[in-house]
Order: sequence, then C-alpha cells, then structure tokens
Amino acid sequence: MGESGYTERWLETGSGPGAVVRARVTQANQAVQAAYRTWLDHATECPTCRDGAARECTVVKPLWDAYQAAQRAAL
Ligand SMILES: [Zn+2]
Repeated sequence: MGESGYTERWLETGSGPGAVVRARVTQANQAVQAAYRTWLDHATECPTCRDGAARECTVVKPLWDAYQAAQRAAL
C-alpha cells in the first residue's frame, strides 16, 4: 500500500510498454479488496475449501457472493 488514498495500478496503453499509474482508491474498490480478503482468508483456513470441495462448504458461498456483489458495485 502506497501513499494514503492512492494505489498503483497497471495501465495497458495498447502500444509499447504499459505504465504504472496512481489511481484513486475508491470506497467501492476498498470494499472489493476487503471482501476478497475475507474470502481468501476463509479459503486458506477452511479444510473443506482447501480440499477443493468449496461447493460443499456452507460458509464460503456467501463470502464469494459478497465479493461478486462488491465487484459489480465497483464498476
Ligand atoms: Zn470453507
């Protein structure tokens, strides 16, 4: 995490090398990151999910749905 309020983001310029730009960290983007972290933390801690049986895990589904919803909200 860089300077407060900003994040570095890769920008595809279409020709030549891309560029790293500083992008404003929006609340929506922070919500996406937070939801992703919550899901990832569960996925790495949960024996069921680690076994690749995430479909049988009742905990991970709402976490994943929340992440997807946050992504849609950030668009
Ligand atoms: Zn799980």
